[in-house]
Parts: sequence; C-alpha cells; structure tokens
Amino acid sequence: MPIATVDPATGETLKTFDAMGSDEIERRLATAATVFDRYRLTDFGHRATMLNRAADLLEEDQDEIARTMTTEMGKPIVAARAEAAKCAKSMRWYARHASELLADEHPSDADVKDSGAARAYLRYRPLGVVLAVMPWNFPLWQVVRFAAPALMAGNVGLLKHASNVPQTALYLGDLFRRAGFPEGCFQTLLVGSGAVEGILRDRRVAAATLTGSEPAGRSVAAVAGDEVKRTVLELGGSDPYIVMPSADIDRAARVAVTARVQNNGQSCIAAKRFIVHADVYDAFGERFVAGMRRLRVGDPMDESTDVGPLSSEQGRADLEELVDDAVNRGAMARCGGRRPDGLDRGWYYEPTVLTDVSADMRIHHEEAFGPVATMYRVADLDEAVGVANDTPFGLSSNVWTRDDQEARRFVRDLQAGGVFFNGMTASHPALPFGGVKRSGYGRELSAHGIREFCNVTTVWHG
Ligand code: NDP
Repeated sequence: MPIATVDPATGETLKTFDAMGSDEIERRLATAATVFDRYRLTDFGHRATMLNRAADLLEEDQDEIARTMTTEMGKPIVAARAEAAKCAKSMRWYARHASELLADEHPSDADVKDSGAARAYLRYRPLGVVLAVMPWNFPLWQVVRFAAPALMAGNVGLLKHASNVPQTALYLGDLFRRAGFPEGCFQTLLVGSGAVEGILRDRRVAAATLTGSEPAGRSVAAVAGDEVKRTVLELGGSDPYIVMPSADIDRAARVAVTARVQNNGQSCIAAKRFIVHADVYDAFGERFVAGMRRLRVGDPMDESTDVGPLSSEQGRADLEELVDDAVNRGAMARCGGRRPDGLDRGWYYEPTVLTDVSADMRIHHEEAFGPVATMYRVADLDEAVGVANDTPFGLSSNVWTRDDQEARRFVRDLQAGGVFFNGMTASHPALPFGGVKRSGYGRELSAHGIREFCNVTTVWHG
C-alpha cells in the first residue's frame, strides 16, 4: 500500500510520501532507546506539564488537524473536530490521574509479614520502547489513547500509522515534540506494514499495541509471541444492539442510527447487529429505517453531512461484497444496498438496513465496516443473548431495557468487553476499553490501559 493522502471524497491522490529506509529506521530506534534511559527517570509532574501542553496545542490546531483527517480518510468534519477535542480532554485526564493510577501498592501488614518481609510493595515501572501499529478510522484518537498513558507511565512510543493517513501521523510526532517531550520520546515512522516485523523483533523494542483488522493483529501477535514481547490487540467488532420490549423505542431507534453510522460506519465499536424483540420489532424497525433514510450522504467537508465516503475504494468494495452476498442469499435491503446517485467520484455507500439475515450469509459472521446494519427478530431474552454471542467478535454490546432483572442477565451472559445500557458504546479515558474472542485482548484507557505497558515490580525487603 503506498504511503499517500488520497481524498476519499474524490479519489484524487493529493500527496505521496517515500517510506523510510532501513538507515532512518535504525537511527530512530537508537534515538528511542537512548531517550528512554533518561525519560524513564522524569517525574509525573514534568510529564504532565508536557502532556497538558500537547493538549493545549491540539486545541489550537483543532480546525486544521480536523481538515487533515477529513481529507485523508473522509470522516465528517464536525466529527473530526470532536475527535481532536476528545484527544485533548483525554490527555488532560491522564496528565491529572497517572500518578495515582501508578502509585505504589501496599499489601496488608498481615500479608507482608506472612511473606516473610519486613516491608513489601508493588511498583509500576515503564517497559521501554513501545511500537504502536494504528489504523486510519480515528487517526488521532487511536494514537492518543495509547500515547497519553504510555508517555505518562514513562514509556516512549514509535508510531507506525496506517499508510493512508501520513499527514495525521506526521502531525502527531510533531505535536509531542512541540509540547516539549524530549526528541525521540514519540516518533512517527513512515513505513509500510512489511517493515513492522523487523522493528518488532528489534531488541530495543519492548512491546507492541495494534488496533486494526484481525489478520494484522494475528501477524503482529505471532511475531511478538516469537519474541516473547507483550502485546495489546484491539481488533474488529460486530457489536450487538439489543432492543427489549420495555425500552424507550423512539430513543432506541434514534440512537441506533448514530451508533451504526458514526464515522461513516467505520468504527470497531459501532453497533452493527440490531437484535430486536418480536413485540417491538416492527415499531423499532420502522423508526430505524426511516432514520437511516433521512441521513445526508455527501461531502465530508460540508458541516451538514451525516455520512461521508468510505476511507478507500477497497473498503467500499469489501462492504459491497458483504451486502451482495447477503441479498443473493435472501436478505432484504429495507433501505440502501447501493451507491448513492450523483456522488460518482468518491467512495460513497448508502446507509443500509438488511433484514432476513441468516447464518449462511457472510455478514452474519464478518464485520461490516461501513454504514450497513443487519436486523434480527428474536422471541425472548435467551434468543437475544444467543444471537448476540453468535459471532467471532466480542468487543462491546448495547442493550435497551428498563427491566433490572433482564439487565443483570445481560451483564452475566453477553460475551463482550462492555455492556452499555440505554445508550451507545463510547470510549472514555476513565473506562477500560477492549474485547474478548477475536476482538483482541488487553485493555486500553483507565488504570488498566496505563498498566498494560508497565513492569509490575515486586519490591521485598527482608
Ligand atoms: P489493517 O488492519 O490492515 O490496518 C491497520 C494497521 O495495521 C495499519 O497501520 C496497517 O498498515 C497495519 N497492518 C496491516 N497488516 C499488517 C501486518 N500484516 N503486519 C503489521 N501491520 C499491519 O486495516 P485496513 O485498513 O486494511 O482495514 C481492513 C479491515 O480491518 C476493516 O474493514 C475493519 O474490519 C478492520 N479495521 C478495524 C479497525 C478497528 O478500529 N478495530 C480499524 C481499521 C480497520 P498499512 O496501512 O500500511 O497496511
């Protein structure tokens, strides 16, 4: 894949970049390793000052970086600005909380004594150079939610961003440098995915985090396994959105539209499978389909656009294949199912709702990375849980119910890293984020996220 900015709204190549050669990669690895030796000795207060400065700079740059993201991957400009704002807020959150999240932990006096120690405690120490392989869909946020905790913990980062967002990738390296982080603390490597294995095998790299597709995750985890290096994987999702009879159907249908088409439908935590109790299936379905039809598809730079183009021609082709396969096997497109008229240059696709979906269709098992929803009619809670769990993925889940007993069952039985009631899944720096099954392992954000790349050190004094 060439490293280039190609506008998804027009298909036009706007800028191309040469991949870094092996000498440049070597120079950057050496810089990262050297700076880690000094950076790990800095205190939380100093790191927080720099991270808060990065947040200030990002806010100053909000409009410009939002336009860059929209140009590179097609998200609506309003959402791009919101993404930049969320990144700044999360940087401040980690700047404020890292010292308490990573404070020494003390077992009880009785346990210390029982271990034979005069004194014992646990300390979180940084691991070292962490390689971040990141995707294009939230080109700022995916990186910041790794970088903010990693830098606060005293690690240093190497970013291998997706090849279609090079300008956003370069901006990020520059942002942390301008904020005062020592040269080499956070570097962008402009390299293709073929270079990842060599970098990850390098003895100076301690660990890796990857957000992206399952094949990419499998490949990075295999190399890391071979090298016995820690990884966090955040892969795809096909999150269920369950609607039970006690739900507020109007609100459930309104939120369902946003939950499905946010980021032009290209979000790992987007609700993708709408599993609706038979008693409210028609009422919900009518409202949901009407909402999907009303969306404005068009130029992502236009403030009033709801859904822009998909990020790449291949991405749209993959989505079309999934929909065509389902329709050929008997699914009904209640809306969409095609490219919109009059938008021939970009990689647009109409918001789509498929019903009559069955297990022999690819879309039943695979992630639809675009504005395509599937609907399932279920008879009761058990069937809802069965359909929800009938997927290789387990990232998050959404449930609409006002029945507490039902809610407890869903928390107990849904195979997912999150259960969001009466709302849509969203990430927040204080809440852990990650999945089970083929959605990956490890957690980002919260205390769990910052501790992933720490050496949990037992200190024992006899
Ligand atoms: P990829 O997984 O291919 O790309 C994500 C990142 O991984 C990019 O930086 C990419 O680099 C890199 N990468 C790809 N293959 C490898 C590899 N073998 N070894 C090391 N690094 C690799 O995502 P795509 O853009 O191709 O999207 C394909 C599908 O992935 C989507 O349709 C969706 O299902 C899923 N996806 C999920 C995301 C999520 O948020 N969970 C985000 C993006 C995609 P390069 O760009 O240079 O290839």
